[in-house]
Amino acid sequence: MKTIGLLGGMSWESTVSYYQYINRAVGEQLGGLHSARILLASVDFHEVERMQRANDWHAAAQLLGDHATRLETAGADLIVLCTNTMHKIAADIEEKLGIPLIHIVDSTGRAMVDGGWTKVGLLGTRFTMQEDFYVGRLERNFGINVIVPDEYAQKDIHQIIYDELCLGVVSESARQRYVEIIGQLVAEGAGAVIMGCTEIGLLLRAGDVQVPLIDTTRLHAQEAVRIALGGMVPVTSIDGFSD
Ligand code: GLU
Repeated sequence: MKTIGLLGGMSWESTVSYYQYINRAVGEQLGGLHSARILLASVDFHEVERMQRANDWHAAAQLLGDHATRLETAGADLIVLCTNTMHKIAADIEEKLGIPLIHIVDSTGRAMVDGGWTKVGLLGTRFTMQEDFYVGRLERNFGINVIVPDEYAQKDIHQIIYDELCLGVVSESARQRYVEIIGQLVAEGAGAVIMGCTEIGLLLRAGDVQVPLIDTTRLHAQEAVRIALGGMVPVTSIDGFSD
């Protein structure tokens, strides 16, 4: 079994989900007392969020690149960056590594293609909803037509992520606002909605909305397990959808 290097803490609330999904899946596949070989580098999210706000992506790339390199030196065979947003600088991190970084957009895009979804809604931070590293990569590499919420809805989604979900707060008012926004995306033709932020799975359940919710945290974790176990083993305990 390969050793998975988790680069987490963004926020730690969702790093917990990765840790659970990965360990459960390995336990199910190998049985008995088996669990995943994991190295974790967990950053102080306060620092990262400051860098995002200051638009200092260079400093963020430096910070995360250093942590990823430490994981590699410590024996990680692959890196999982446990956040959608920070994939904005995935290429800068990859440049410093001699081991693969499993890109969350690619894990998601492949699942969308396999599921036959071509027109999907996307929820995430404003960076994720607005920028090419995410939307463009899904469209260009996987032929997916991505619909994002309007400006006001984007503001609410972004704010709820940083002011509530990343602090472990799961409120009914936030759930209702997300459900309302998903309703708008479905009215515009979205056949499924990507939860493109690793904390959104803490808020929404499949029964909350009419369309499938695609959970990027689960898909990313699932791919890491597949690779760690040699690529061929089907993983059943994480299905990529919310439950
Ligand atoms: N975890 C979130 C994501 O998946 C947001 C936190 C961050 O800015 O990294 O995008």
